[in-house]
Amino acid sequence: MKIRPAKIYGVLGNPIGHSLSPVMHNAAFKVRGIHSLYGAFESSDLKGSIRGMRALGIRGMSVTIPFKTAVMPYLDALDPLAEQIGAVNTILNRGGRLTGYNTDGLGAMKALGDTINPAGKRCVLVGAGGAARGIGFMARESGMALVVANRSVDRGRALAAFLKCPFIPLDRIRETEADVLIQTTPVGMFPHENASPVPEDMFQKEMVVMDAIYNPLETQLLKSARARGCATISGLEMFIHQGAEQFRLWTGSNPPVDVMREAVTNVLSKKRVRK
Ligand code: NAP
Repeated sequence: MKIRPAKIYGVLGNPIGHSLSPVMHNAAFKVRGIHSLYGAFESSDLKGSIRGMRALGIRGMSVTIPFKTAVMPYLDALDPLAEQIGAVNTILNRGGRLTGYNTDGLGAMKALGDTINPAGKRCVLVGAGGAARGIGFMARESGMALVVANRSVDRGRALAAFLKCPFIPLDRIRETEADVLIQTTPVGMFPHENASPVPEDMFQKEMVVMDAIYNPLETQLLKSARARGCATISGLEMFIHQGAEQFRLWTGSNPPVDVMREAVTNVLSKKRVRK
């Protein structure tokens, strides 16, 4: 009997124990009949991990906190988008040559694009960290008129300069007028689910409000926005779509987005029951 070994993929980060990427990608491989396995690799040795990826012939890797920028010098090539954003969340191994990509911003824009056409819309981007950088870059590419709202002025101004857009301190966010609000800070994440970085009276009926957080699925910010009549989008959609774009890069085939969403939602809803 001839044994055909599975192709190996994974997620590299630290910590990695709570990552939902294995559940999502293994479900996608299974439904498509792709003979592959996706694991979770927690490491404090980034250089050694990338050498290991080459040595073991691991076909693709998701990269997460704290390695998204630090991994760049260890790769053979960078996709222009990842290079411009300055962060890699996906590695593709083509016969030993490792190329870095960034699907985070694209995932966010796909999630938003299911609800609204971003071109020409005014968008307040809340936060100025790694997620804001990728999302903001793609939002600008999609034709949105951006304003960065952030707690710390230095970081906020730096991102606004990168995105060539205005900056406003977070405590003055009410002064902005927007069609879309994208929340990218960790405020409101489990276990601090009652917190929100944005005052409720910021939300107007016609606004579309997206949160990068996906645990809980509906944050306090999204609850408030929904109560005031806004269309809301959970961070889960962004997570699913960034993963779907990874699947497309690795396999060259269309991602089973609904299966990926169902797999992750199942785990998240069970977690909520246990708490
Ligand atoms: P990060 O680089 O650490 O940036 C954090 C940002 O949040 C900074 O702008 C920081 O402001 C702000 N912030 C932190 N605590 C705050 C507070 N108490 N009040 C106001 N602002 C505060 O983090 P990141 O990598 O961008 O990740 C941010 C969030 O996005 C996380 O919850 C992460 O899970 C989520 N995310 C989701 C996806 C997805 O696929 N759905 C993908 C990536 C990230 P200062 O500059 O003032 O410190």
